[in-house]
Amino acid sequence: MESAVELLVDQHALVGEGPLWDEEQQVLYWVDILSSKLFIYDPASGENRAIDVGQHVGTVVTRASGGLMLAVRAGFAAFDLETQELTLIANPEADISGNRFNDGKCDPAGRFWAGTMAYENPKDSGSLYRLDTDLSVHRMFGGVAISNGIVWSLDHTTMYYIDTLRKNVRAFDYDNDTGAIANERVAIDVPEEIGMPDGMAIDSEGMLWVAHYGGSCVSRWNPNPAELLEKIDLPVTQVTACAFGGPNLDTLFITSAAQELDAEALAQQPLAGGLFAVKTPYQGVPSFRFGG
Ligand code: CA
Repeated sequence: MESAVELLVDQHALVGEGPLWDEEQQVLYWVDILSSKLFIYDPASGENRAIDVGQHVGTVVTRASGGLMLAVRAGFAAFDLETQELTLIANPEADISGNRFNDGKCDPAGRFWAGTMAYENPKDSGSLYRLDTDLSVHRMFGGVAISNGIVWSLDHTTMYYIDTLRKNVRAFDYDNDTGAIANERVAIDVPEEIGMPDGMAIDSEGMLWVAHYGGSCVSRWNPNPAELLEKIDLPVTQVTACAFGGPNLDTLFITSAAQELDAEALAQQPLAGGLFAVKTPYQGVPSFRFGG
């Protein structure tokens, strides 16, 4: 793809993450997990408002009844944008002090899925959780190293999920009525030379967009059968997540991280931790709101 990647915000985020387009407000939410910051980027003005959440924040989704939902270190939480009040809703890992919440998104029925990872040497202590609209929490499976990208197929019958250290994208049969998943299989094996799979988005053709941590790119995949269709290179190695947005849903917003880079690497990639965008000939699909 020939379009130029543009730097939108030179944020130097430690772990820029969680981009999510709000169609109603026409703004992009994103976070810097380890700086405990929620950002609201307005493409019309170029302003990037920063809000201190008060604890590490893994991801952000919108809420149908107003405000936002966050997955913070202490679990699932509601966030009021007016008062900036954080209200904890459920902490399924209250007894696991070494973990924090990481990436997550809402499914088509408005349930909020988010997973966890260990701060130190993540291996298998993480889990993937589902917060239902009645605010009940369900542990869907454990054995997760670094819980990351999650999207649902356009026909709402398949869930795609990335545990970064598995270096693949897994698929599950998904029941939109109940939120149940079954029939786990590997959809895409991600080649090591393009880094490790991190965040993920889906476009209106059902193709998957994967951010490659340590791989300086985002890629577009057909998940069935697995085929790498396109690759967009970035001027930073730690590419963390991507989301379609803009008035036509044809801009791909891309987050990045400045962590795990030494002084020499930071000198070579001074834009690490920035928020980027690229115009595409594709369109995303609207993000789902939390229905609870
Ligand atoms: Ca991530």
